[in-house]
Amino acid sequence: MTRSIAILPIFFILFLASAVAQKSRPAATPEKTIAIRAATLIDGASDQPRHNVLIVVKGNKIASVSDGGQPPAGADVINFPASVTVLPGLIDTHTHIFLQGEDPAEGGCDIQLLKYPSSFRAARATIAARRCLEQGFTTIRDVETEGAGYGDIGIKMAINDAYIPGPRIFASTRAISVTGGYPLEGYNPDIVVPKGAQLGDGPVELRKITREQLENGADWIKVYMTHRSWVDKQGHLVSQPTLTLDEIKAVVDEAHGQQHKVACHSYGGIGMRRALDGGCDSIEHGLDLSDQDIAQMVKQGTWYVPTLGIYYMDWAPENTPDGQRDRTRASAHEVSFKKALKAGVKIAFGTDMGGIPWTEPIANEFGWMVKFGMPPMDAIKAATSRAAELLDMKGEIGVIAPGAYADIVAVHGDPLASIEAFENVDFVMKDGAVFKEK
Ligand SMILES: [Zn+2]
Repeated sequence: MTRSIAILPIFFILFLASAVAQKSRPAATPEKTIAIRAATLIDGASDQPRHNVLIVVKGNKIASVSDGGQPPAGADVINFPASVTVLPGLIDTHTHIFLQGEDPAEGGCDIQLLKYPSSFRAARATIAARRCLEQGFTTIRDVETEGAGYGDIGIKMAINDAYIPGPRIFASTRAISVTGGYPLEGYNPDIVVPKGAQLGDGPVELRKITREQLENGADWIKVYMTHRSWVDKQGHLVSQPTLTLDEIKAVVDEAHGQQHKVACHSYGGIGMRRALDGGCDSIEHGLDLSDQDIAQMVKQGTWYVPTLGIYYMDWAPENTPDGQRDRTRASAHEVSFKKALKAGVKIAFGTDMGGIPWTEPIANEFGWMVKFGMPPMDAIKAATSRAAELLDMKGEIGVIAPGAYADIVAVHGDPLASIEAFENVDFVMKDGAVFKEK
């Protein structure tokens, strides 16, 4: 008894000493200082571009942003001329790095779940992650792995530990739906096929699934609140609702209790009503928003992540039920986006990349947003400071300001005059490290 009391403080001191040693251990390389002279800066938060700005980066953070001035002694200096616009690293809040936009004629998603080893899918996900960074997207919210389990957590680890290049990832892991609420479908009912999301029924089971996903590293919970859609006899878009109000409330309650948020795929109708009444934090796609939905989103501060571009791809032939559905989806989405914009719904940039082949430019979505009436500066904010707000990272990413992570990109041209400038990304810095320099 006496002896153990004497020994305890020694262990305690050793423990403290090792904790201090770990904390005070110097970084492997000294903090680098990089000074960036930007003839034109869109800082992600201001309404107007700024000119002749000096950005000083120390280590992985932005140390200062000033009008003119001299770079600190010993700093590496990067000069961007007037033909180049400097911006914060871009944020895509709706991606799928484990999806590859397979041509339906080649088997669509089914082939990925049924025929590809997970290592093959993971290898391709590393390419998708790299594509994000190459195109100036330094952060993504990846909203489910489409049957690849917790693969997104592994890719995120590999990026954070610098084994592979890629963006900051907010991962959603497996996603949630109910029986009959997600592919794979259409097989012999006697054969058990894998599903692209984790399916469950009833508030108890769905709460358990939410707990399981959070335990295994999900940053966000992704829920499919609608599934199939079709056009009814009156020509209206109809979407199959999935989770009941009790079910979505259980998911949201569990996620919120653990300080995580819930992204809800929802097209419209009954599923949308339940998503909003259930307290979803973001509505994904939102093709068919009613006036009531929009009013409720404004009132509750629900985010809207429209994904316009993808609904203009791969339309089925016009005079078929699928062809009608494809066209109605796109036209409804345009109307919903315009109404939400007018009503002041909080909008964040999202693409559904992965549903779109990763060989396509991520920035295409900017063109759709601007075409449907969003001012270019607001479209840029949707992919920077607004997206950061959605991710609870306000002031840390999506902005060029002191204290923010040094995620900085430069594009050739003026995106305010021509939004296509985002397709020419000349320079990408993430976390203070230059990844791409033309
Ligand atoms: Zn998606």
